[in-house]
Amino acid sequence: MQKDVIKNWLFTANECIQEKKDFLSELDRAIGDGDHGVNMSRGFAEAVQKIRDNEPADVAGLMQTVAMTLIAKVGGASGPLYGTAFLKAAAYLKGKADVTVRELGEAFKESVIGIKQRGKAEPGQKTMVDVWEPVVEKWLSYDGAVDFDELRALAEASLEKTKDLEATKGRAAYLGKRSIGHLDPGAYSSYLLFDALFNELKGVKA
Ligand code: ADP
Ligand code: MG
Repeated sequence: MQKDVIKNWLFTANECIQEKKDFLSELDRAIGDGDHGVNMSRGFAEAVQKIRDNEPADVAGLMQTVAMTLIAKVGGASGPLYGTAFLKAAAYLKGKADVTVRELGEAFKESVIGIKQRGKAEPGQKTMVDVWEPVVEKWLSYDGAVDFDELRALAEASLEKTKDLEATKGRAAYLGKRSIGHLDPGAYSSYLLFDALFNELKGVKA
């Protein structure tokens, strides 16, 4: 795929995040401090603006711009975590003019490793890792064509599963068992990113 696919994804993802800004903050009000929507909305709006003003030359450049913006502009846990995710993907894709679906999956595998290291989190702790890890593992499990509808369904199912989990990482961990029964905000924003991505990739040849 050419960089336009990734650019379109980032633009669409930004629109989804702006649309769900209040809902993301509402989720965070239930088990955190209520700023996740504001954080994500500010970070992505700024990243998209940077891309519009000064378009990077390739996919790695786009990812790098998002990473640096999120790290600089988003306070809270999610800024550095998403920043790391995009930074790791950028490093993996550096120098590639054309990126295959497989390579993008491999780049996001690096993102998963980065998020887990940075947040010291494992799956099952009610964080964004609960969406990122299963989705990327499944992505890399395909030998041939990637089934993007299946991946979208998995992202959604993985998000839903965070409802029944007790948070043991991040701010929500202070609530202990009272965090059970609520979706994790970072898992929701991760689902939004993947949903937009798989929609975009459906029309793309590997
Ligand atoms: P903060 O919690 O600092 O207010 P946000 O509200 O923007 O930051 O983001 C909260 C989200 O960040 C959580 O819902 C969770 O998905 C994710 N998160 C928090 N801590 C961690 C961690 N240690 N590892 C992975 N993800 C985390
Ligand atoms: Mg918060």
